[in-house]
Amino acid sequence: MPESDTLAAAFIAAVDALARVSKDVADYRILNDAALLELNRLAAVERQFAEAHAALLAGEIAHRSAPALGHAGLAQRSGYRTPEELVRVSTRSTAREASVVVRVGRLVHDAQSIDSTTGELVAPEQPWLLPVTEAITAGILPLASADAIRTGLGEPCDGVPSSSLADAAARLCAEGTTLDPDRLFRRARELRDELDEAGIADRERERRQRRSLRLVRQPDGMVRLTWVLDPESAAVAVDLYDRATSPRRGGPRFVAQAEAEAAERILADTRTTEQLASDVFLDLLRQGADADDSQLLGTGAPVIRVLVTAKVLRERSGHGRIDGQPDPISFETIERMLCSGSTLPIVFDGEGQPLDLGREQRLYSRRQCIALAARDGGCRVNGCGRPASWTEAHHVQHWGRDGGKTTIANGILLCRHHHLLLHNNGWEITRDGADYWLVPPPDIDPDQTPIPMPSKSGALKDLQRERAS
Ligand SMILES: [Zn+2]
Ligand SMILES: [Zn+2]
Repeated sequence: MPESDTLAAAFIAAVDALARVSKDVADYRILNDAALLELNRLAAVERQFAEAHAALLAGEIAHRSAPALGHAGLAQRSGYRTPEELVRVSTRSTAREASVVVRVGRLVHDAQSIDSTTGELVAPEQPWLLPVTEAITAGILPLASADAIRTGLGEPCDGVPSSSLADAAARLCAEGTTLDPDRLFRRARELRDELDEAGIADRERERRQRRSLRLVRQPDGMVRLTWVLDPESAAVAVDLYDRATSPRRGGPRFVAQAEAEAAERILADTRTTEQLASDVFLDLLRQGADADDSQLLGTGAPVIRVLVTAKVLRERSGHGRIDGQPDPISFETIERMLCSGSTLPIVFDGEGQPLDLGREQRLYSRRQCIALAARDGGCRVNGCGRPASWTEAHHVQHWGRDGGKTTIANGILLCRHHHLLLHNNGWEITRDGADYWLVPPPDIDPDQTPIPMPSKSGALKDLQRERAS
């Protein structure tokens, strides 16, 4: 029998065998618990083998439908635009399922691809995923899990060789026998972060770049806002959202009388949770619009909790986390958040015990902030029009890095955007008496020419005029 007939015969035999397995509820009812659970496990293996076959077929279909083939490709000749579409329609899958089976199918195909002239195995394009394709063909990993490992691990880069990613992939395949695809994806991201400490800041920057708020006017007069937030910004919004709606979504139970009453009120409110959240955010916008000009950002109760180890703070390298967010944050971001006081740091010692970190000496007091607002009149970066109420007090000589003091002379007001430049993008500030200059990093200005930072304070200008006359 030619090999193609052998394969077809094997498929037919497998389908026959599956068809013969009882579909009679009575047969399942008589199983004891242990047997029921064992068959449940075997059914998963059955499905994984079926998925492996689907991936092998989808991989071959994709190979025969390569874009280079144009209209001669298999999918195109069959009347479909893409192999994904062919697979979706012919196997009655969702678009998502079809794209996963084709993606993993390509991976399996690529792992065993043979040079047509020499007949030898060709090194795959993504060799670090070989453990994943092996687990697929061994029937021990679902396709969704394979795809989660692939996206979670990412690609090799400087400092993260393919071999390290291959080790991580092998570990994840082993863990994949007990984790669902979503958890496996998170684990893959964690392993990537462990391997790629240097990449944490890059990935953080990349996520921050993707933030956006889009406002679309609807034909019926409504307005739709689509707001995509990076984890750090999201921590603020999520905290406010939770405070406004948590009793409805199974939040903490309140012991104090006043808190219990507030929770009671939210539960009894006739508005939907979405309407409630909308009203709360609108109230915040209204209040923000006529905020006290001298009240700096982040001088109220801290809303974000930053988790960090004492070792990271001491050595000034490594990463931390925002409470409740899965992705780590870079050390630069930790320092910036600690500088401005919009955060409550929670520091852990070597044994995992939280340490208390005094806020008093590190943060500018309310009176100091009023004095800074009077002196600076807003963000001190030249050309930036953010008023004092939109700024954070930054330590010119960093509190952690340089041992800078929390004094008026060592303080300067910066809006959040410009504060980020200082801590995350390598800009510096120098001071001479009451004058401050902004120094760009060498990659922005090789000469690092200092840029003056004029005060926006009307009172200070009055004083200078008085002196000049
Ligand atoms: Zn700062
Ligand atoms: Zn600014």
